[in-house]
Amino acid sequence: MIEKMYKQSVYYLDILCNRIGERCVGSDGNREATRFLEKELAAAGWKTSAAEFDAIDWEDGGARLECDGNSFEVFVGHYSLSFKGSAPLLAISTIDELEHAEITGKIILLHGPIAREQLMPKNFVFYNPEESRKIIALLEKGNPAAVIGATGRNSALAGGVYPFPLIEDGDFDIPSVYMTEEEGMRLAVHSGSQANLESVSERIPGKGYNIIAARGPEDAGRIVVTAHIDAKKGTRGAIDNATGVIVLMLLAELLRDYNGKRQIELVAFNGEDYYAVPGQMNYIAANQEKFGNMILDINIDGAGYHEGPSAFSEFNLPEELSEKLTHIIDSYPGLTKGPQWPQGDHSIFVQFGVPAVAVTSKWFIDNMESQDVTHTPKDRPEITDCHKLVEIANALNELIRMI
Ligand SMILES: [Zn+2]
Repeated sequence: MIEKMYKQSVYYLDILCNRIGERCVGSDGNREATRFLEKELAAAGWKTSAAEFDAIDWEDGGARLECDGNSFEVFVGHYSLSFKGSAPLLAISTIDELEHAEITGKIILLHGPIAREQLMPKNFVFYNPEESRKIIALLEKGNPAAVIGATGRNSALAGGVYPFPLIEDGDFDIPSVYMTEEEGMRLAVHSGSQANLESVSERIPGKGYNIIAARGPEDAGRIVVTAHIDAKKGTRGAIDNATGVIVLMLLAELLRDYNGKRQIELVAFNGEDYYAVPGQMNYIAANQEKFGNMILDINIDGAGYHEGPSAFSEFNLPEELSEKLTHIIDSYPGLTKGPQWPQGDHSIFVQFGVPAVAVTSKWFIDNMESQDVTHTPKDRPEITDCHKLVEIANALNELIRMI
């Protein structure tokens, strides 16, 4: 049984990461992945549905920048509009400077403190600090010709990406590019000179889908198991989050004969790694009145790293449920209890008062600040171990049947 599940996982990993590859929301690969998942869940005897929403894909055509006869290495801001032109360069390093500078029509270099953290997308409602909203508002009010963000390393927020795009927002219409901190320092001394910027970028309108599979009666409470199926642009998203989707598929098979009293819902969210989290917003809108009927969310994100145990973190579990979880964790050698972490779809359920369990790899929790894997091309099948996915699926199957 375990050997068969292992082989199935390896097959799924190959389909999601090698045959399909990129699964960014709005892309063909993303739609291929959701179609594949829906077929697998239906084949395991589940009633499936696909919730559709609008999502733009994005194509990067490259960027270049010149100033005072020097060229600088720049990258197209993700989901940005194109830009081609020449304008005076103005370097800005604080919000206060931005507030008082004359920026209209200029090419603005944001560097230093103001560019320390990625600016949150305008329509990202789950986490949007005041500072970020203020910078965006000042830029939109001042309307510069283009924005250059010089960014440093910030693993906690940007994963292992360096430099990270300061702005990643298809709803923000001032063209943007980004560069490393070092390039930013080199460029800042040319503030006041004429800069020449060309950035080629295209927004491609398309569709995305959440895949939802359900079974069991609706009246005695719902257990929701979630994993996001989209991957960050430019990565195969093996650990983030093909492994989570594979656990969903393994679990669908294990629960094929479930006829307990709960309703079980398996949800592949589409948009965890996308600026406007459209799949999550779609699910919230559809379930606005139904969160009260949910007993538990189990969210799998970042599970199956080849090193270290799988970490189960609990959020507001009632005592009885917490004891059951502890019992399960203790009976599988590769599982351990983890601390709470907020950067995942379980936070949505927690916000709506639903108890949650988040499943990830302990290694990522321990190396949050220093790891350079998340959201980079290093996130490949080679860094995963499918045996761990089999163990997680078996443990979750047992836990769900105990509730
Ligand atoms: Zn993820």
